[in-house]
Amino acid sequence: MKKWIALLLASAMVLSMAGCGSEPKESSQAEESSQAEESSQAEESSQAEESSQAEESSQAEESSQADSADADQGNAGESEVGEESSEDAPTASEPGSFTTAVEGKLTMATNAAFPPYEYVEGGEIAGIDAEIAAAIAGKLGLELLIDDMEFDSITEAVKSGKADLGLAGMTVTPDRQEEVDFTVSYATGVQVVIVTEDSAITSVDDLFAEGANHVVGVQRNTTGDIYTTDDIEDEGLGTIDRYSKGAEAVQALKTGKVDCVVIDNEPAKAFVAEVEGLKILETEYVTEDYAAAMSKDNKALYDAVNAALQELIADGTIQGIIDKYISAE
Ligand code: GLN
Repeated sequence: MKKWIALLLASAMVLSMAGCGSEPKESSQAEESSQAEESSQAEESSQAEESSQAEESSQAEESSQADSADADQGNAGESEVGEESSEDAPTASEPGSFTTAVEGKLTMATNAAFPPYEYVEGGEIAGIDAEIAAAIAGKLGLELLIDDMEFDSITEAVKSGKADLGLAGMTVTPDRQEEVDFTVSYATGVQVVIVTEDSAITSVDDLFAEGANHVVGVQRNTTGDIYTTDDIEDEGLGTIDRYSKGAEAVQALKTGKVDCVVIDNEPAKAFVAEVEGLKILETEYVTEDYAAAMSKDNKALYDAVNAALQELIADGTIQGIIDKYISAE
């Protein structure tokens, strides 16, 4: 059935492309390709029918085989669990497909101090990333477990296999890519600068001006820290004050300990809404991609999570979750 829809869509696209071709050359190419497409489509569709019938019957066979295989492996799995003394040892959550840190669960490492991506509300961890992880877990037939830790510790938790994925508004950077594998990106982040309303800093460029000497507050080991260390501290244009939470850096700005804070746009908006007398500069520091961090040593799980995330992006689920928390400007 899906094949039919895909074929129909593909041929509709080719036909509409043919219709759009304004240059004679293009349209003749388009015609050729649409003809080619049509004839191959006709072939494919009859093949599709055959193969879908073939698939159905072989699927039916497989699933009955799978049932008995499951039963076998289920027994093996149980005795294995019984034998294992350490709770931390990875066990197969779906025998033969992938393993997770805790059997039957998807463990997400995060730092729940990054609204609206992750924050604590009524004793629970809420936010965009928590909902995305729940949707991925749902697709994989797993229950979501959230492990709240310092932002700093997430990569290590993922590398060591204690957590299955790090989902924390985490930016894809080349250095991090040496430590972990990132899934496809699910959101865009922007590093912005928060200042006091009466600040002499009026644009991002003021931070890089000759003779500048600002104290910049950041959350430790975030990209805000990494970029400002390179661009400002290492260039002799100021010093960086590192805090374990973004909100603490914002408090330091409020009390005059730092001149500005460089942090991701969405938490910046949430913090500025909470603290009087602060504003976000209109000029942006840098735009970046958020993705989930995963171990390089668990390819099967990576593939399963990445595929689930891709499906959730394609069917609009991820955008729906983001829209619940972030209103379009
Ligand atoms: N996007 C930033 C980074 O990856 C900040 C993430 C965070 O503080 N949770 O470094």
